[in-house]
Amino acid sequence: VQVHVAPWIVPIAAPPVREGAVVLDANGVVRAIGSARELARGSDVREHRGVILPGLINAHAHVELSHLGAVAGGEGLVPWVRALLSVRAQGSGDEQAACGRVQAQRLASRGTVAVADISNDGRVAGELRVAGIELVDLHEHIAACELRAPTRPGAVGTAHATYTVGVPALKQLAAASGDRIRSIHVEEDPAEAQYLVEGGGPLALLLAERGAEPMGTPSGRRPVEHLDALGLLGPGTLLVHLTFATPSTLELAASRGVLAVLCPRSNLHITGRLPPFREVRAAGLRTALGTDSLASSPSLDVLGDVQVLARAGADPAWLLAAATEVGALALELPHRGAIAPGRRPGLVVIGDGAHAIDDPLRWVAFEGADAPVERVA
Ligand SMILES: [Zn+2]
Repeated sequence: VQVHVAPWIVPIAAPPVREGAVVLDANGVVRAIGSARELARGSDVREHRGVILPGLINAHAHVELSHLGAVAGGEGLVPWVRALLSVRAQGSGDEQAACGRVQAQRLASRGTVAVADISNDGRVAGELRVAGIELVDLHEHIAACELRAPTRPGAVGTAHATYTVGVPALKQLAAASGDRIRSIHVEEDPAEAQYLVEGGGPLALLLAERGAEPMGTPSGRRPVEHLDALGLLGPGTLLVHLTFATPSTLELAASRGVLAVLCPRSNLHITGRLPPFREVRAAGLRTALGTDSLASSPSLDVLGDVQVLARAGADPAWLLAAATEVGALALELPHRGAIAPGRRPGLVVIGDGAHAIDDPLRWVAFEGADAPVERVA
């Protein structure tokens, strides 16, 4: 066994423990958690000076876009997508692999233990695994009608968005992953509901230019309502963004047992707006956090997204659960996400002066993104 001792332990599933200890077996499975005075015995005791948390979970990233760097935003999704497409056309495969490798290592070094990574081509999956990150490999399809390519072996097929994937392809994807769409971008920009409800608008123009119009006629419904009418929402569906979702959409989503994945720094970059985190929480939607890609976010560290929402007034305990325990639910990795007996969460130490902290939840939410982080198990 190995015993990790720290001024604060934040188990997530229980209140923080001051002067605490976590006992792990040789496989990293938690055997006990409690006070250091009772548990810190034996030869293999490691003392840390920061706050111990379970490993972080990034529930929405696109590591394969890392080589593109920041794509100019602030004007909404459609101008940003246009800029992304032109930059992406110039990128090289070697550059993509090299940047993917650097970011995979950085994710691991900043305490992320698992990622739901969206990928069109699967080229960075190996880099993430080599870095020791548990990967939920989501093969994202963009298809007007039938899927153009089969889903990669070992990956789960997902849909990019309701405006880029037609109804037959959506149904095909859901049928292959437990009768629900596993993950989809929804309500990231007002143009999306405009296109689905009325037809037309900036998305219709962009899609027509690219010869891709999955909606022959408008569905007359907003994106989440559209998916629900098709019977494609179910427990474990990840609705990514929800930035412009209405309260009734959020209630509908909660009633279907889906999870929200908020990417606040990406939303700020592209549309200048934070997701409606208070309304999402009030609707009872379980919420995880994702970073989205480096094309719209300054880092792939979910603590950055925790920080931006903490500064906007979100509850620190809710945010840290989103970055750990709910993230584990979102990725369907029940052994992750909390320091509790029987789980194998991975342990991260955040900061190096936690003796002076009175409220570790608040401190990690506000300062964790800028503090040193070490993965210790
Ligand atoms: Zn995304």
